[in-house]
Amino acid sequence: MDSKFQVSLEKAALQHHLSREEIILLLRAQPGKEQNELFAMADRIRERYQGDEVHLRGIIEFSSYCRNDCHYCGLRCSNNNINRYRFSVEQLVNASCQAVELGYNTIVLQSGEDPWYDADSLSRLITEIKKKKNVAITLGIGERSKEEYRQLHQAGADRFLLKHETTDAELFNKLRPGTSSDKRMQCLRWLREIGYQVGSGNMVGLPGQTLESLADDILFLKELDVEMAGIGPFIPHSQTPLADVPNGDLQLTLNTLAVARLLLPYCHLPATTATGTLHPEGRQMALNCGANVIMPNVTPYDYRQLYQIYPNKAGSTDDPKQSLKKIVSIINQVGRKVSEGRGDTPKPSFQIKSQNSVFLNDKHSN
Ligand code: SAM
Ligand code: SF4
Repeated sequence: MDSKFQVSLEKAALQHHLSREEIILLLRAQPGKEQNELFAMADRIRERYQGDEVHLRGIIEFSSYCRNDCHYCGLRCSNNNINRYRFSVEQLVNASCQAVELGYNTIVLQSGEDPWYDADSLSRLITEIKKKKNVAITLGIGERSKEEYRQLHQAGADRFLLKHETTDAELFNKLRPGTSSDKRMQCLRWLREIGYQVGSGNMVGLPGQTLESLADDILFLKELDVEMAGIGPFIPHSQTPLADVPNGDLQLTLNTLAVARLLLPYCHLPATTATGTLHPEGRQMALNCGANVIMPNVTPYDYRQLYQIYPNKAGSTDDPKQSLKKIVSIINQVGRKVSEGRGDTPKPSFQIKSQNSVFLNDKHSN
């Protein structure tokens, strides 16, 4: 094995900090000795900082309507070939109650960017759910105004998941017409300032994405000091402009996850559904190279096949009970246990560290 590789790996494990060049070196890890060492080190760091518990976040996909036209996603507004659905507030409360009854301590409410749900109705919903049980509520509803983010946080939303998708601004702007990388960063700053536990993350395998930009993704996640980072492969959908682009590479996805674990030891890292879709054992592999979270689908059976961001999503033919059973078995297979807590990451003294940040300069001060 290249001695520079070994030196970078040991530095990452000890200091949790690497230069962009050193990150790229590790991202290039080849199957065999290099990858074995990288994954084993990431697994050791996961064990040391996160223990053996795997946190479950039950995800409810409550609307497939979206005003955006992202080139990578099957829910894009130009796709006329899907049946759209949207839960009423009552349906969403019922689905959340089912998740609570199944024992989830975190519920993730995810949707296309659907303004039909205004901040008032979402706030009512959050209040209703919190009356049943003090579960952690994560929102994954895309870009909103700062005031709306604030109102939702005041109503009880604890966490917000907004993936930065890629730090390559040109690529971001091309793949998400009508939106911008600057605005995305601004939203992430707002979420941070308001006091959410912030989740972000990126896809691996977008067309035109480089190892340099993947290294920047990890550096960005470190700089934002995210509580959670979703790193998963891009999977093409036939009804999108990226239909002919190949799947993101599984090995590169796992390398990215492992390096993220080394540099973000306290961060929650999910074994993503996309990784489980790309390979039947993908989530087990991810759990063995740094991941400590799984997000089982709690969307009622009748709707889950309609939320097609990419085809053949793992678990899309199961109901909420079956999904939970399968995920628990995956966790047991790798010798880990399901956490009984909420898996919060409190950070009372958080401050954005670098005023001269490469990524977080406030170009849109509010
Ligand atoms: N609409 C919200 C947003 O975009 O932030 C949340 C829902 S969106 C479906 C959730 C995530 O799905 C996105 O952040 C993106 O990373 C992921 N996604 C969309 N299309 C994908 C694809 N073809 N392959 C892998 N992940 C995809
Ligand atoms: Fe809409 Fe999110 Fe899909 Fe983009 S990724 S089209 S914002 S659901």
